[in-house]
Amino acid sequence: MAEARVKSEIALKGVGVSPGIAVFKCQLLSPHTDKAIQRSISADEIPNEIARFEEALIATHDQIKHIQKQVAEVLGDEHASIFDAHMLVVDDRTFIEDVIRAIKRDLINVEPVLLLVANRYADMLSKVEDSYLSERAADIRDVTKRIMANLAGETLDQMKQIKEPCVVVAHDLSPSDTASIDKAKVKGFVTDLGSSTSHTSIMAKALEVPAVVGLHNISAVVSSGDLILIDGAKGLVFTNPSEERLEEYRKREEEQKLITQELSTLRDKPPQTRDGYLVPITANIELLEELDAVGARGAKGIGLFRTEFLFLGVETLPDEDQQFESYVRAAKSQHPSPVVIRTLDLGADKLPSGFENPDELNPFLGDRAIRLCLSRPELFKTQLRAILRASVHENVRMMYPMISCVQEVMDANTLLRQCMIELSKEGIPFNQEIEIGTMIEVPSAALIADIIAPHVSFFSLGTNDLIQYTMAVDRGNENVAHLYKPTHMAIIRLIDHVVKVSHKNGLWTCVCGQMAADPRLVPLLIGLGVDELSVSPSLAPMIKDVIRKLYYSDAVELAQKALNSSSAEHVEQLCHELIESIAPEVLEISE
Ligand code: PEP
Ligand code: MG
Repeated sequence: MAEARVKSEIALKGVGVSPGIAVFKCQLLSPHTDKAIQRSISADEIPNEIARFEEALIATHDQIKHIQKQVAEVLGDEHASIFDAHMLVVDDRTFIEDVIRAIKRDLINVEPVLLLVANRYADMLSKVEDSYLSERAADIRDVTKRIMANLAGETLDQMKQIKEPCVVVAHDLSPSDTASIDKAKVKGFVTDLGSSTSHTSIMAKALEVPAVVGLHNISAVVSSGDLILIDGAKGLVFTNPSEERLEEYRKREEEQKLITQELSTLRDKPPQTRDGYLVPITANIELLEELDAVGARGAKGIGLFRTEFLFLGVETLPDEDQQFESYVRAAKSQHPSPVVIRTLDLGADKLPSGFENPDELNPFLGDRAIRLCLSRPELFKTQLRAILRASVHENVRMMYPMISCVQEVMDANTLLRQCMIELSKEGIPFNQEIEIGTMIEVPSAALIADIIAPHVSFFSLGTNDLIQYTMAVDRGNENVAHLYKPTHMAIIRLIDHVVKVSHKNGLWTCVCGQMAADPRLVPLLIGLGVDELSVSPSLAPMIKDVIRKLYYSDAVELAQKALNSSSAEHVEQLCHELIESIAPEVLEISE
C-alpha cells in the first residue's frame, strides 16, 4: 500500500532579529529582487503570468507619466521630454509580444524572459552607429528596471491579500513591505536575505513579530502551506517540525512567557542601577501604531522617531498637515517625556513609491538621508515646518540623520531658520528654542564631534550605521554579517570619544542603534558614559531589567577593561560574563 509522503523536518539557522516563537503554516511570497529568479510554470499558469506582465506595464506607464509631470513642473518641459522615449518603450507592442511569446514557448515566469528580451533589444540598438538609436538602448534598460520593480512590488500586494494567520517566507522584504504587515495575519516572517540591523529587522521588532533573516535559501526550501516553527530569539527555523520539536517548543514558550511576565512588572520602576545611577530608556518607533506600546513596555518618551516610515508603503506621500498631525500625536502621547523626531532618512532601501530609484552603484553611500533632504529643499522644508508647528508641544526635539560634515548641520539649520521666519510671518506658533541634535552614525562625524557640538544640543549615536561605515560591512548583507562587530575596538573608541566630547561641551549622548537593545552591551555603553538608551518598545523591559541588576561601578570597570583591550572577541567575552552573572534570564529571550 502506498504511504502518504510525510515531509521531514529541516532545521535552519539564520539571524534572529525579533524574539518570540511562532508555529504556523507558511505563505511564500514571490521574490522581491531585481535579479530574475527563473521558475518553471505550467501551461495553466501562462494567463496569470501574462496578466502580471500587463499589470506591471500599466503601472510603469502610469509612473512614467507621473514623473514626467513632476519633472515638467520642477525642471521644465524640455527635461520632461526625455521620458517620451521611455513611454515609447513601455508601449511598444513588438517588444511586449516578444516577451509574451517567449513566456508561452519556454514556460517560465516573466522576469527572466523580460530581461532576456530587453537585453537583446538593447544590445542590438547599442551597436547601431546612430547616436539617437544607440541612446535608446539606455531607455530600454531603464524602463525594464522599472517594470521589474513593479513585478517585484507585487510582494506588497501579496502581503495585503493574506487571509489566514501565517508565517511569511520571502527572499527579501523591503521596509515598505513590512510597513504594511497586518499583525493579525502575519505571525512571523523569515527571509533569505538580511541581517540584524537591516531595516526590515527593525520593523519586525517594531511590530513585535518573531522574525529570522539571513537564511540564504529558505524561500527555495519551503512551499506555501508547509508547517514552520520559528524561534526569533535564537535565529532557528524548523520546517515541518517533528512532534518532539513541537513539544520542546511548547515548553520553551511557557518558560519564555514566565520571564516576559516577570519583566513586565518592571514597567513603572525607574531604570536605575543598584547603586542609584539613572539611565533613561526611550523608544525607537517607526509607526504611530507603536505609541501605546512605549509606555506599556516601561519606556519613557521617544529617542528616535524614524519618520521616513510615514512615507513608505503608502500611495500618496504625507503633506505638511498630515505630517504635523502625526508628530502632534506622538508628542501628546508621551507628554511631558521628550519625543525626538528624526528628519527623513530616505534613500537606499527606503524609497517611497513614486520616487525615482537613482542609478547608484553604492546607494548606502549615495544620495540618502540628510543629503537627499538638502538637495530637495522643498521636501525637507515641508517636514521642518511640520516639526516646528508640532514643537508648540514643548517635548518635541529634532535631529538630522547621516551627518558626515559640519556644513550639512549648518545648511540644515539655515533651512530651519528660514522655516521659522516663514512661520513667524504667517503667524503660526512654534517653539523658538526647539532642541536640535544630530545623529552620529558616520565615522567622520564622530571624529569631528567637537566641531559639530556648537551647532547642536545633543548627539544620538546610530551604531547600526556607525559600525557599517567604520568597518566597511554592509549592515544588511548576511554574507558579511560575521564581520559586523559592535565590540570592535574602533567602535568602542569612537563611542568613548563622542561621549567625552559631548560632555565636555555640555551636550548629552543617546545610543539609538541596535547596540542599546543588546542586553550584553548595555553595561558597556553605560560604563562609557552614554546618557540615554533608545530601543524598540518590545525590548525595553529586558534592558530595564539589566540596568536594575547592574552596579554602575561594575559598568565603569567593564568599560575601562574594554578600552584597554585589543580584541573584539575579548570585549564580547567580558560583556557576556557580566550579563551571565547578573541577569542570565535575558539570555533565554535574546540571541
Ligand atoms: C542607526 O544607524 O543606528 C540608526 C539608529 O538609524 P537607522 O537604523 O534608522 O539607520
Ligand atoms: Mg542610521
